[in-house]
Amino acid sequence: MKLVNLVAVVDLEKCIGCKTCERVCPVLAIKVVDGKSQVDTERCRGCAACEQRCPVYAIRMEKRKEPILVGVDVDSVDYGKVIELCGKAKLNPEQVICFCTGTRAEEIAAAILMGAKSPEDVSFMTGARTGCKVECIQPILRLLEAADIKSVPPKGGWQWYGRTVTVWEIPEGVRRKHSSRGFYFDEDEKLLNRVKEAPLQGRR
Ligand code: SF4
Ligand code: SF4
Repeated sequence: MKLVNLVAVVDLEKCIGCKTCERVCPVLAIKVVDGKSQVDTERCRGCAACEQRCPVYAIRMEKRKEPILVGVDVDSVDYGKVIELCGKAKLNPEQVICFCTGTRAEEIAAAILMGAKSPEDVSFMTGARTGCKVECIQPILRLLEAADIKSVPPKGGWQWYGRTVTVWEIPEGVRRKHSSRGFYFDEDEKLLNRVKEAPLQGRR
């Protein structure tokens, strides 16, 4: 869940239409039309990625008159299916996967069950990945994959590039080869399995 207090505003005089903002926006809320950038203010999640990367400082973040509370109601979906999806993605439903917004795996799974088909949909619905945008893309991709959704990066975008390998997928030969060189695959796997299987503490 995220309280979106900010919105991106473009200075059209300064904008040179380079599309950098469009390529980095995690929810596809900003687009260059006729050589000038335009923000869909209802879609913007106030992450400031566009502001930070605009080469001519044409974007500023402004305070919203009415903040938007973004999140999904986990109670509105079948929690058994949430558990199933999280299990397939090797995540505990109550595990926080976006530390910037405190979004848990169960919220991402619920968003997918409610119709999210891409990381951009997930971010729009939950607010996850609208902070640092670094850590949570992988678990989001794993949860989408668990729902048999093949994610494709936005065309021409720089938001994300693909799913990386997890500890469970590293072939035995690679594990053995590198275990003497300071990698602790078996220990990592045990620890991550403990997190995945930890009893649920919440309301359910
Ligand atoms: S990054 Fe800046 S200059 Fe480039 S299109 Fe966006 S607003 Fe315009
Ligand atoms: S969501 Fe972030 S990158 Fe997209 S328009 Fe809003 S502030 Fe810019």
